[in-house]
Amino acid sequence: MLSLLTSLPGGWKRIKGYHRLNPGQTEDQGICMELPNHNITIRELQEYIKSKDYKPGLEHGYFLKLVEEIGELAEVIGKGKRLGDDSDIKGTIEEELYDVLYYVLALANLYNVDLEKSCLLKEEINNNRTDH
Ligand SMILES: [Mg+2]
Repeated sequence: MLSLLTSLPGGWKRIKGYHRLNPGQTEDQGICMELPNHNITIRELQEYIKSKDYKPGLEHGYFLKLVEEIGELAEVIGKGKRLGDDSDIKGTIEEELYDVLYYVLALANLYNVDLEKSCLLKEEINNNRTDH
């Protein structure tokens, strides 16, 4: 079933024609959102990823994908290939950094972790460290 709604609270929009339900998800949980058209927060990106890619029970699989993406990042760092003026992101450090971030946030969703809160708590510790 495709939703006709295009606007959601908080500036989110549904992606027309996009519909992918995971086992056990209701129609509402199957909404895939469009990224907001402004500088996005970690929370917004995490919610966006949850709307399109959320498979509880597959935590180990997502972790393996994260490790795979870290390997791809290591490769492109070795090659030093960067995003250029042509905006072709394939095979660049920019692409692989995003892939790593994607799976970090996807894993955070599976463990119901509010990563924005984690950032604040951990940076408070980091900023009070005296061993650096
Ligand atoms: Mg990749």
